[in-house]
Formats: sequence, structure tokens, C-alpha cells
Amino acid sequence: MMAPTAHYLTDFAYIGAIALFILSLRWLSSPATARRGVLAGEIGAAMAVATTLFNPELVQFKWILLALLVGAMIGIPLGLVHMTAVPQRTAMSHALGALAAALIGISEYYMRIPHITKFEMTEIALEVIIGSLSFTGSLIAAGKLQEILPQRPIVYRGQNYVSLSVLGAAVLVALALILHPTYPYMFPAMVVISLIFGVLLVTPIGGADMPTVISLLNSYVGFTAALLGFVLNTKVLVVAGALDGASGFILSVIMCRAMNRSFSNVMFGAFGQLQVSAAGEQEERTVRSATPEEAAAILGAASSVMIVPGYGMAVAQAQHKVRELYDMLSKKGVDVKFAIHPVAGRMPGHMNVLLAEADVPYDRLLDLDEANPEFPQVDVALIIGANDVTNPAARTDQSSPIYGMPILDVERARTVMVIKRGMSPGFAGIDNPLYYMSNTLMLFGDAKNFVGNIVRELSPQGGAHVSTL
Ligand code: NDP
Repeated sequence: MMAPTAHYLTDFAYIGAIALFILSLRWLSSPATARRGVLAGEIGAAMAVATTLFNPELVQFKWILLALLVGAMIGIPLGLVHMTAVPQRTAMSHALGALAAALIGISEYYMRIPHITKFEMTEIALEVIIGSLSFTGSLIAAGKLQEILPQRPIVYRGQNYVSLSVLGAAVLVALALILHPTYPYMFPAMVVISLIFGVLLVTPIGGADMPTVISLLNSYVGFTAALLGFVLNTKVLVVAGALDGASGFILSVIMCRAMNRSFSNVMFGAFGQLQVSAAGEQEERTVRSATPEEAAAILGAASSVMIVPGYGMAVAQAQHKVRELYDMLSKKGVDVKFAIHPVAGRMPGHMNVLLAEADVPYDRLLDLDEANPEFPQVDVALIIGANDVTNPAARTDQSSPIYGMPILDVERARTVMVIKRGMSPGFAGIDNPLYYMSNTLMLFGDAKNFVGNIVRELSPQGGAHVSTL
């Protein structure tokens, strides 16, 4: 039994951890305070874990130490992945969190039968169903983002009915268990059906919708942790899980709004299938391209430039060269700003993180609503490795799968320049009519090299050392 003073200290430490989690979420909502938010979350988590370890009811540490060792062996390499692999790393973290929650729920069930109450059985069944489906769903999402699995939606006739029937089966088995918790084979059957449902849930969803799916799975895992908190009667887990679940859900809603899509469209719309007709039309159209020298001359003569970064900037790790370009143009008196689309890149805030890493001033970053009214007055829109988020088909072509998605209106600038390596489509897998417009110049090449060549060309010694790609 814990002494009353120890109880107070434990409660006090847990309340401190919870306060840090809430502050962390608050600070994470702005790039200016995000680093502080990460630190607060880390300290809160460390406090919660340490307080649990000091619980005098824990009598041996052998298994905990072994688990910490195995966890560190998996966690450290996962934490060191390249920036572009962070989305799939996040999906893997969700998978492992969901697996842990599901395994604890399973062990609680077997420890409590045959004296389990209906209420306990309801909590455990819900927790294990959501934990199991989040585990396999997150693994499939990670596989798609890592391109081990096909990114295109895998669909077949009657798919939604099959998936919903499988979910219905899991719920029916759970109901049977609540009425008769000791029914043989029922509990393992519920786990297996839920695991299958996780696979069926994410397989039909296209790569372009993975950001929303990842944050939705994040919210499922949060809610699983909250349910586990009820099962284990651990208040800190209930609150931390609820915060995680609610913030993941809110993020999913924000992302759906940014893409002008409903949840049901994201989950059941099989968005991002190859557009064969668009690819056919593409062959007949021509594009105009320019060299780094020509691009530098246009940028140097401009009075305002809007830089639009996208996933290609992350792949090329071009953010530091982009910062040099910003410095050089600003020195020449050019007004340079950055237009950031909410789903540019491969995770929420991807572009903000990269530009912050290169110390681009926050006040130069405009979000979609601030940037769009400015494009008609902008001399040059310089797109660096962005594609889908600039696709005017979203506004003009009702047959386009991204029709209705808010995009950056780059084509309204006087001149549009697009740095990318070739004519391949973006993540949504669709053609971009922007590239064939009369005011668009394609700058073919790797983003880091191309921007580096423009910077060299703009420098006082420029011209002599310039190499074209
Ligand atoms: P896109 O994926 O639409 O386009 C990226 C472009 O970058 C490609 O067309 C590619 O063209 C180019 N590129 C790739 N590597 C390089 C390189 N080394 N140098 C220069 N260019 C390069 O990116 P956007 O940022 O415009 O849009 C994001 C898309 O990803 C949206 O569809 C969004 O829904 C989705 N998504 C967003 C997530 C998020 O949370 N932000 C997460 C997951 C998906 P090329 O190969 O010709 O060089």
C-alpha cells in the first residue's frame, strides 16, 4: 500500500505532467513557440514515466528494464531517420503505440476472466478493437509512404460493404463477449477481425490522403490510450490519451478543410487513381524551359517574388540554398515572401519546419489565405518542388479528383517559374496544366542544384562560374 504522502506526491507529479502536455499543445500551434512545445511534451512524458517507476507497488524492474532496452534499440534508429521519412516514422510510432495498448488490453482480459464485469469487458473490447485496427492500419500507412506498398488506392467492387461488414463482425463478437465474457475463441476472433479491418480500412486510401489518415490514426491511438487509462484506472493516461486523440482529430478536420474534402470522401473516396486521359493529352502540349542564368536575370529584375516550396524542396534538402536566395534577393531590394500551403510536403507543417531550420524569418511566411490575394501583384512566383498544391485544375476542372481543393493561385503572378526535375506528377498522381501556361517557365533540375546555380549567378562574381543543368 502506498503511504498518503507518496500518494500526494504522485498525484502532484501527474498533474504537473498533464499541465505540461496541455502547454505543449498550446505552444506547438505556432512555429515561433513550437520548439518550446516539443520540450514541454518531452519533460511531461519523462515526468509521467518516472513517477510511475517510483510507484512503491512496483516490486521488480527486470522486465521494465528489458522493455526499455528493446524500446530504445527500436526508437533511437527510428528517431534518426531523414526528414523526408518522418511521416512513415510517425506512422510506425502510432503502430507501436497501438500494439502496446492492444497487448495490455489483451493481457488484462486474460488476467480478469472469469470474474470480469460487463463494464470492464466493454472497456477492454473497445480498447482492443481500436488498438488492433490502428496497429495494422498504421503499418499499411507506413508501407504506402515508404513505397513498399503501392501508393495508389487498391479498390474492388463492393469494397466499402466488405470493410463495413468486417467491422460489423468485430462489433457483434464484442457484444457477444460483453454478454458472455468466457465464450471460447470469441476474444481471439475479435482481435483477428479487428486486425483485418485495419488493413481493409487503409488499403483503399491513396497516397495523397495519407496525411489525413496518419493524423486520424494518431487520434485513434490517443483514444485507445485514454480507454486503456480507464481499464487500468490511471488518470494520467486518460488525460494524455484524450489530449492526443482530440488534437489528432482536430488536425484531421483542419487537413480535410484544407483539401476541401469530407471525412467520408477521404476514407472511402479512393482518391488519387491514375488519370489515363490526362496523361494522353500531356504528350501533345509543349512547355517553355529556362536556364539558371535566365531565371536569375528574371528574379534580379523583379520587385516582388513569392517562393512556393513543396515536397521537392524537402527531397533535395534545398532549404539552406533557398535561404541564400532569399538573402541575396532581399539585399538587391526585392520583396521576397513565402507562400505555405497547409498540405505542402508530406506532413503538416513540413515546410515551416524546413524553413525554420534554415532561419527564414517567420514574418516572411504567408499561409494560403494571406498569399492568394497577393499573387496578382507579384512579379515572379518561384515554385520549388511543389506540384499538387499549385494545380489550377483544382479550381477550373470539375472532372479533376482534386477539384475544390484550395490551392495557391500561382498562375495569377506575372511570371511563374517551376523548379522540378521532369514532368512527372505530384503525390496525387495527376497532370498539372500550370506547366503549359503562357506565363510559365520550367526550370528543370534538382532543387538544391538549381537554386544554388541561381544564387551563384546573382552573386557579384556571377556569370563566370555558372553551369547549366
Ligand atoms: P507534390 O508531391 O505534389 O510534388 C512534389 C514535386 O517535387 C514533384 O512533382 C517532383 O517532380 C518534385 N521533386 C521531387 N524531388 C525533387 C528534387 N530533388 N528537386 C526538384 N523537384 C523535385 O508536392 P506538394 O508539396 O506540392 O504537395 C503535397 C502533396 O502531398 C499533396 O497532394 C498532399 O495532399 C500530399 N501529402 C501531403 C502531406 C502533408 O501532410 N503535407 C502528407 C502526405 C501527402 P519531379 O519528380 O519532376 O522532380
